[in-house]
Amino acid sequence: MPTFVVAPTPYEKLSLLDDATRFEPAGSEPLLEKAAPNAHKPKPMPCISEVTTPAGKKPVLKAMMTTACEKNCYYCAFRAGRTQTQRVTFTPDEMAKTYDTIQRAGLVGGLFLSSGIIKGGSTAQDKIIDTAEILRRKYSYRGYIHLKIMPGAEFEQVRRAMHLADRVSINLEGPTPQRLAALAPKKDFWHEIFPRIQWISQLRRTEHLRASVVTQFVVGAVGDTDLELLQVSEALYQQHQLRRAYYSPFHPVEHTPFENLAATSDARELRLYQASFLLRDYGWNVEDLPFGADANLPNHIDPKLAWAVENLGNAPVEVNCATRTELLRVPGIGPKTADAIVTARRQTRLTELGHLHALGLRDVRRASPYVLLNGRTAPQQSSLF
Ligand code: SF4
Repeated sequence: MPTFVVAPTPYEKLSLLDDATRFEPAGSEPLLEKAAPNAHKPKPMPCISEVTTPAGKKPVLKAMMTTACEKNCYYCAFRAGRTQTQRVTFTPDEMAKTYDTIQRAGLVGGLFLSSGIIKGGSTAQDKIIDTAEILRRKYSYRGYIHLKIMPGAEFEQVRRAMHLADRVSINLEGPTPQRLAALAPKKDFWHEIFPRIQWISQLRRTEHLRASVVTQFVVGAVGDTDLELLQVSEALYQQHQLRRAYYSPFHPVEHTPFENLAATSDARELRLYQASFLLRDYGWNVEDLPFGADANLPNHIDPKLAWAVENLGNAPVEVNCATRTELLRVPGIGPKTADAIVTARRQTRLTELGHLHALGLRDVRRASPYVLLNGRTAPQQSSLF
């Protein structure tokens, strides 16, 4: 009797991919994005996550062209030679058609496309680009696309991807070449990865391509410190127009060389994001952050609050004359509230916590020990708000 092998349907392939990219954030709220699916609200399709994109929150299909890979990153379920993974591969036509079908059905509003690497990064990149080309040309798709730039992709491929996509990402994985080598011995920081970030920055500057760029680090598997991670993040924000750094806490995967390492805590991930926002949006420098002797942030306290306890406890900020930068040092005051305070005080003196609350300060109790209102300390209470 001959045996017939029935090829899996695209839906079955997506089912096998599900979770493959759940731990790879793509939008502006990475901590929410990785949340486990709500048991009471089953997902209409595998591989769909709620992602906050520049165009708003939308269900995004996070998929891979293939889970076959010739690299051997120590932490990854898809590393070469791991036999416990059932590999799936989409052709560009198949992926584009699958996306078009579920997009027209109203199930998704965006695509995040990554891939394992077979026959080099530029071959994998071609398949990602071909898929996006088909979607844009054949299916006239105008919606959100986020494309992964592969290690080793060529300059023209990076340019083409940026023409097709709203966002591109290239993952550094480790904050230094040494950390990357310890995580992924077949990836080369200086030759395969970092120049692509420089190219993207250059293309944004010289050709005004609008695709933004993000990167991801695998945190905590190989002794990387918060200081290392935030130093490189700061450099990328300041010099290479990085839109966001993602800090993905390491989780051991069975049957990989790292299967017995401890998982990284969610608390560390949260503190890294908080510190990263201070660098990106609040005018902080990495030297301002409250690192401990081990070059890590304390996990039990928000880094901004830790700084305020140390530096503003005896020197509160007078909200009526502080600079915007000084206002941004106060816990609870973000860029919008700082701007609102600066605008409002041109017309009036701010004398009560209620004034700050009306200007957008939500967490009054957090801020009150660190501000002066017309020369007077603020009442240490929040019950009015
Ligand atoms: S390149 Fe590394 S991280 Fe990416 S799929 Fe291959 S083994 Fe996994």
